Amino acid sequence: MISVFDIFKVGIGPSSSHTVGPMRAAKEFLLAADKAIALTSIDAIEVELFGSLGQTGKGHGTGKAVILGLAGESPETVDTTMVDQFLQSTHDSEQLALLGQYNVPFPREGAIIFHRRKTMPRHANAMELRLLRQGEVVYRDLYYSIGGGFIVRDADFDDNLEEAIEQSSKPIPFPFDSCNDLLKHCKEHGKRMSSVMLANEKVFRSEAEIRSGLMHIWNTMDSCISRGIATEGILPGGLRVQRRAPGLYQRLRNEKTSDPMQAMDWVNLFALAVNEENAAGGRVVTAPTNGAAGIIPAVMKYADRYIAPLDEEAVVRFLLTAAAIGILYKKNASISGAEVGCQGEVGVACSMAAGALAELMGGSASHVENAAEIGMEHNLGLTCDPVGGLVQVPCIERNAMGAIKAINAARLALRGSGDHKVSLDKVIKTMWDTGNDMKSKYKETARGGLAVNIIEC
Ligand code: SF4
Repeated sequence: MISVFDIFKVGIGPSSSHTVGPMRAAKEFLLAADKAIALTSIDAIEVELFGSLGQTGKGHGTGKAVILGLAGESPETVDTTMVDQFLQSTHDSEQLALLGQYNVPFPREGAIIFHRRKTMPRHANAMELRLLRQGEVVYRDLYYSIGGGFIVRDADFDDNLEEAIEQSSKPIPFPFDSCNDLLKHCKEHGKRMSSVMLANEKVFRSEAEIRSGLMHIWNTMDSCISRGIATEGILPGGLRVQRRAPGLYQRLRNEKTSDPMQAMDWVNLFALAVNEENAAGGRVVTAPTNGAAGIIPAVMKYADRYIAPLDEEAVVRFLLTAAAIGILYKKNASISGAEVGCQGEVGVACSMAAGALAELMGGSASHVENAAEIGMEHNLGLTCDPVGGLVQVPCIERNAMGAIKAINAARLALRGSGDHKVSLDKVIKTMWDTGNDMKSKYKETARGGLAVNIIEC
């Protein structure tokens, strides 16, 4: 079973597949090596990045993430305020302490190789790490960053990726592989989708742990909104994108208006705030990825402000429902822009938020399914074309659009009877097929779409 805590992970920006995954892989590699060989005798380390990691890794901060992971840092706990200083000192000294303990030379040029044209056959995001002693490779491994911060070792990779990320073989009360399964459980047991998820999660953790873990996730999202609203300046990376959230907040705060669409401006603000923080390498929650991290917090904040203040029960139900929907995409399609384009990131986040909002607003399980389906149906075919390989244009605004679309999808579903022509399972399959038919230049390579039509200066 994939857990709600696999779907929502506290990490750092700007990308779950290009930052969070590689940082985790680098650390995991060294922890495994530490058990197999004497790290004290290592005198060199080499890292090669392939496919989309090589093509857009510089803009997505993959090199920095690898360095932090090799130093023993984790995305969940790294102090984001010390990152720049640490990277500068590594750059100046050309030395790196592996796991914070074993010093090796780490030359500015060549320690991490970004391959722009080489791709590994099994996955678009691959990284090979090697440890050397006197010029000889003594330990190596190949990892894939498969989206949403999930990583898989080459040795564990098989045609069914879910086996590789399976948490446990303990039986769960409500197993599901499709939304149809989920709806059956809801109908047969008279449960909401969030209650089905909660029952499954309780096999692995106590209810108190689940609740406090989910409140931590929400509080991290909420703090991210607050930081994004308060932080002015230009985003890093060279595109010179101005942060818009602080200025928008000041205008909205002081506005006296009867404009019925003002709620939309606030939702835009919440999404921009999160994704500007993400673009700046700040602390964010993958939801289900970093590139799409603003949609779920923005829709939750909308619910908090315009429906009813979010208490613990509302937060728990929202996140569990959203996770159930995210799991369906993870199992049956993909949440990686490098695999299926932006429909797998912004499209999936929109679908998750739409379904969760529908449940929070009192919808039945079939309303939830309908809302989630609408949320994806109108994102089908969305390509990934980040300008300059940065998670900024179109990504930041695209989250604002995704959040608004999610709210509308929930409202459309709730105004209906629950009957609809296209099922969520069918739209997930369609998204996967569309992703497979999509040209690779539209899958996080920065070689197509806006990425080649906008001048990066
Ligand atoms: S375009 Fe979408 S999938 Fe691509 S980097 Fe931006 S948010 Fe992620």
